[in-house]
Amino acid sequence: MLILSDLSLEQLKTVILEMGEKPFRAEQIFRGLSSGKRISEMTDISKELRAKLLSVYEDASVEIIEKKTSKIDGTIKYLFKLWDGNVVEGVLMKYKYGNTQCVSTQVGCRMGCAFCASGIDGLVRNLTPGEILGQITAVNAELGGTIDKREVTNVVLMGSGEPLDNYKNVISFIRNLSDKKGLNVTPRNLSLSTCGLVPKIYDLANEGLDVNLTISLHNPFDEGRKLLMPIANAYKISEILDACSYYFDKTGRRYIFEYSLVKGQNDGKNCADELIRLLKGRPCHVNLIRLNEVKEKKLSATSDKDAYKFAETLQKGGLSATVRRQMGVDIDGACGQLRRKYISGEKI
Ligand code: SAH
Repeated sequence: MLILSDLSLEQLKTVILEMGEKPFRAEQIFRGLSSGKRISEMTDISKELRAKLLSVYEDASVEIIEKKTSKIDGTIKYLFKLWDGNVVEGVLMKYKYGNTQCVSTQVGCRMGCAFCASGIDGLVRNLTPGEILGQITAVNAELGGTIDKREVTNVVLMGSGEPLDNYKNVISFIRNLSDKKGLNVTPRNLSLSTCGLVPKIYDLANEGLDVNLTISLHNPFDEGRKLLMPIANAYKISEILDACSYYFDKTGRRYIFEYSLVKGQNDGKNCADELIRLLKGRPCHVNLIRLNEVKEKKLSATSDKDAYKFAETLQKGGLSATVRRQMGVDIDGACGQLRRKYISGEKI
């Protein structure tokens, strides 16, 4: 089946003209989709047009099938069902300045990082642009938001999947998300997190999109990084840093390094010192994450005390570094945890 929200407004206009309708209908439908409406709910277009569209396209791109709200911090975890029965998850985090939604870009992932639950069964399939956008439009609508008064203000591509491994669809999604006739979320309010697919970082820099670039580093030594992230066999850290410099030159955007602290693997003084050596003077920030322990993996989290000590070493060494606040720990907040429970039939 096809998904209507995969189309840009321009493409939608072509489809609508081909169906013998007036072009302004395309804008109406685009607005409807961006506000999270199903095709069958678009009562501002004729029944005939709805029926025509429904003979070709899915009624909705994704459907919320589970919602869990954290009693600790109000973080909400969602499970979305796709037309083919696959599921992906997303998280909504509430901050003072607005709500940030973490969305998935693939069902599963083929990057195979040692600590991550998303890649345990490999890649199932890429999400289409409309399936990525649909997670946001569904949550925005579910929370009572509209296009003009959005409940979702910021977006991070940090759910399951590697966004740059689904490059074309992710770019189309960002363009549709930021369309002024749609949800109008500026790319500056979107962060794309990657394990470091170097050639694609250059491509992204050349798109002229100004999204915030986040790199999952997790170890400052190539050999140590390979133990956590298979992608380190393909690209050296020095190549990643060159790509980051290019990204900064092109966009003027400071970049962020994600660093998940794994006990005994990347939380030693030698790692902190090497991070300082590599990153000092660069327009970047280091985001330290306490490992979210995943049942299927045998890695342990660094203690809070050691995480703050690590951050202090980095700060004293001249880096901008913070320990990320942990959110949604009572609702399987980490990548892929809720989906795994769902597909294994465990109670969620
Ligand atoms: N594929 C992208 C997005 C992944 S999720 C990427 O690699 O950046 C966002 C971040 O969470 C990444 O930095 C990822 O490495 C990290 N992560 C995944 N599972 C984790 C876990 N169990 N504990 C802590 N961080 C985790």
